[in-house]
Amino acid sequence: MSDNLRVFGGPGRYVQGAGAIDAMGRFLQPLGASAVLIADRPVLDLVGARVVKVCADVGVRCEPVEFSGEITLAEIARVADVARGFAPAFVIGAGGGRGIDTGKAVADRLGARVVTLPTAASNDAPTSKLYAVYDERHRLVQVDHMAASPDVVVVDTAVIVTAPVRMFSAGIGDAVVKRFEVAQCFGVGARNMFGGTGCRAAEALAELCYDTLRSRGVAAIEAVRRREVTEDVERVVEATVLHSGLGFESGGLSIAHAMTRGLSAVRGARDALHGHQVAYALLVQLALEGRDQAFVGDVATFYRATDLPLSLTDLGMPDATDDEIDVIAAGTMTAPHARNFQRTLSAADIAGAMRSIAR
Ligand SMILES: [Zn+2]
Repeated sequence: MSDNLRVFGGPGRYVQGAGAIDAMGRFLQPLGASAVLIADRPVLDLVGARVVKVCADVGVRCEPVEFSGEITLAEIARVADVARGFAPAFVIGAGGGRGIDTGKAVADRLGARVVTLPTAASNDAPTSKLYAVYDERHRLVQVDHMAASPDVVVVDTAVIVTAPVRMFSAGIGDAVVKRFEVAQCFGVGARNMFGGTGCRAAEALAELCYDTLRSRGVAAIEAVRRREVTEDVERVVEATVLHSGLGFESGGLSIAHAMTRGLSAVRGARDALHGHQVAYALLVQLALEGRDQAFVGDVATFYRATDLPLSLTDLGMPDATDDEIDVIAAGTMTAPHARNFQRTLSAADIAGAMRSIAR
């Protein structure tokens, strides 16, 4: 087997727009005649009846299955048992990151196909085959891979703009880092999430993602504050869900995402949204890259305008001690992505970079 294959992967269909849920039937029908919808209670209340009706209209029987809101191994097993009783051809995972990841985890265990239906654009989980599993204290314990990418991704922007603005901001955070992580991966020939090296398409998508956020991100977040679907919102959602997801999955991840291992182990920061964790962590990565003050200042200006965190304090962890910084740095080094960097890093390098920027 060749060891230097370029691999690019992604979902079968990506469908985005205001009212996409009501129009998704023709994309779901080919997947089979029975489905389960996995979501927590608030998300079932928000979209459950609509999803069941749209499915029924195209001859698909869809059973809602409520999950607790926490994605732990025990909860995945419980929900999978309930879902198995309906013998679904496909699983629809709906919600923010956790509802979608629970849907993927259950589909993986049932050997069913997967539809992701984000109700917030808070991360790029909808397009990815990866899902994160946490313990009862919300510490990240493992990241698993489904056998295949999601079959259909449905992003209803009229629903997305009703989610809290901080979710939209977190989505921008999860996406803004990709250009820099993918660049590090290309620099060292790192493996992507398919075990290959990246195609140039992944790098181009990460660049397009960054350029879109920088040119339209501020206008988009202003529109979301008004609960309006504008062209800026459509472009930025495509960047935060599609470009960001394809970019990292086929391009690879580096320090910004490696740091989620450390940040999810400490007070305050562990409760921050994933996209806000990686946005802070990008500032650490930029320090490690030796970026000049003007460059970092320009990124910081964008962060302020889009409610992204500039410090551990902004991330919900004021007065971080040196010991706590060392814990974050040590946790970061346990992530395989920490090796995808232009030079070999130690925990001391990570801690030093953290101390060099605002706490
Ligand atoms: Zn991410």
